Amino acid sequence: MAQTPNVELLKQLPQVEEVLQHAAIVGLQGIPHDVVVDAVRAQIDALRQRILGGAEPDVETDAIAEAAAARASGLNAPSLRRVINASGVIIHTNLGRSVMAQAAIDAVNEVIAGYSTLEYSVDSMARGSRHDHCEPLIRALTGAEAAIAVNNNAAAVMMVLSEFAAGHEAIVSRGEQVEIGGSFRIPDIMAQSHAKMVEVGATNKTHLSDYERAITDDTAMLLKVHPSNYRMTGFTESVSIRDLRVLVDERKASGGQDILVYEDQGSGAFLRLEAFGSYAEPAVAESLNAGADIVSFSGDKLLGGPQAGIIVGRKDLIDRLKANPLARAMRLDKMTLAALEATLRLYLQTDVAMESIPTVRMLTEEADSVKVRAEALKAAVEKVVPSDCAELAVVSETSRAGGGALPMCDIDTYALEVRFKKGDAQGCEEHLVKESPTPIIARISQETVLCDARTIQDESEIEAIAEGFASYFAKM
Ligand SMILES: *Cc1c(COP(=O)(O)O)cnc(C)c1O
Repeated sequence: MAQTPNVELLKQLPQVEEVLQHAAIVGLQGIPHDVVVDAVRAQIDALRQRILGGAEPDVETDAIAEAAAARASGLNAPSLRRVINASGVIIHTNLGRSVMAQAAIDAVNEVIAGYSTLEYSVDSMARGSRHDHCEPLIRALTGAEAAIAVNNNAAAVMMVLSEFAAGHEAIVSRGEQVEIGGSFRIPDIMAQSHAKMVEVGATNKTHLSDYERAITDDTAMLLKVHPSNYRMTGFTESVSIRDLRVLVDERKASGGQDILVYEDQGSGAFLRLEAFGSYAEPAVAESLNAGADIVSFSGDKLLGGPQAGIIVGRKDLIDRLKANPLARAMRLDKMTLAALEATLRLYLQTDVAMESIPTVRMLTEEADSVKVRAEALKAAVEKVVPSDCAELAVVSETSRAGGGALPMCDIDTYALEVRFKKGDAQGCEEHLVKESPTPIIARISQETVLCDARTIQDESEIEAIAEGFASYFAKM
């Protein structure tokens, strides 16, 4: 039951003007007056709401002024910050998905510090196109006739459906009606792009005959969606790109309309990650070879580049996409283009890509090599944390690819396990996130804190994690 608000406390809340006179507020430097006033007002309002909800917070002017000062100074502190990912989830969407390769970082720095050839051709000394920077590389790496890169894969799907299926039917299997984190759902994107969705098959099984029966004179597209973040196992069946290709070709040969075969591949690998065996995601080139007219995929999932959506396929189709007004609305900026181009270039040599693209390296690093890093972390923590505080061990664990890729793959890994003699796992986890200069994202398992070494980047992150534990136990 809600408690009755303490009316006395409400009356004691100070006026905004009174708090503004307080030393903690007067002493604030470099923050616009309006912002300070808003912060004080927000702080008082927040307290009023809490009191109305039955709480009895501190309503002293000192406390309010200090909280309001912290609120206002928050504007001067960076919000988008680097963190240390010790969670073991490699493509962690909340933590920014892919870590950029050094070559990509360098390219961005170089390009943004001055003017650039973003839309200027040095060869012709005239206006160029921003599409020209990445397209030749994407073509070389996938064998596609043409390519365009846009803001993200959700934008890519939206563009492809709007350009080729708006006002017409697009057929998609019921087993591929996927939702990819948050607000990306195939039926919603279909509706938004004005494509008429025709669902075929059952949740677990869709046959070629289901597509065949559903095709009408109004069918513009067969859409295949890679079920990135889940797998159906057991009594299941889906139709391959190759079979869909044969189906639409036969229809064309007997006088029917051109029907596009489009695959939303999601994760988008250039390399078939053989280490993942039968669960390896299909590579982009495989879908094109199997007969897809268009394939789209993300730049920052398995590819390990910046946020982007890449569309590859027949040149006449990609040319139409380039001319679509949505291409302008969803175009990439120079920072992303610089990072993407540099990342793509690394793929020209497979061994270079495996070593220098962090996402690919972390996905494929041998467990034994991860163990070396876990041991180094244990040694670093041992050095600064007294032995009566915690018990440390290197334990065998599993990492996840994350980002809706390779959902069935447990990746063998090693983690530092911290078992508490003083303090506890919850308190320590919170301390590592909130009190570390660079927030440290670890994981709790059965009253222990686990730091997965697979996603720890380097020596400096190891030192920072050791410091994090040391400062937590120093409070005990
Ligand atoms: C991840 C994913 C998307 C969305 O891609 P973003 O680059 O995150 O916009 C769309 N479709 C599939 C199948 C995906 O896996």
